[in-house]
Amino acid sequence: MRLALVEAGRAAEGGDVPVGAVVLAPDGRTVLSAGHNEREATGDPTAHAEVLAIRRAAVALGEWRLSGCTLVVTLEPCTMCAGALVQSRVDRVVYGARDDKAGAAGSLWDVVRDRRLNHRPEVIEGVLADDCARLLTDFFRDR
Ligand SMILES: [Zn+2]
Repeated sequence: MRLALVEAGRAAEGGDVPVGAVVLAPDGRTVLSAGHNEREATGDPTAHAEVLAIRRAAVALGEWRLSGCTLVVTLEPCTMCAGALVQSRVDRVVYGARDDKAGAAGSLWDVVRDRRLNHRPEVIEGVLADDCARLLTDFFRDR
């Protein structure tokens, strides 16, 4: 999560909402990829931290299935990212701050653990939640 927080800081430098993500290999330690929000920086509406980190992890692994991997992100994933997480077959999603307005991993929706889907990653929430939330609060206060 500390690495994801560093990534989140990079997003803010580019004028993007500070959200950062990393993907860990099945050993739980090796960092396969990292990403931060780049919507403003690239003009791509799908350039969320999780999507970028998932894409880069797949490139690093040489295949689309991220079985056994863990995605760590500073903010609860939105519906798009929750969908991408299910599609990528990650085993675990770890997030920091909850997103009561748009979260899709337990707050507003729970797409990743929907029993109707045949792949449901484990979800661990609240890791360094205060640090993750503070970045966001500071960012929006300064605007
Ligand atoms: Zn998202």
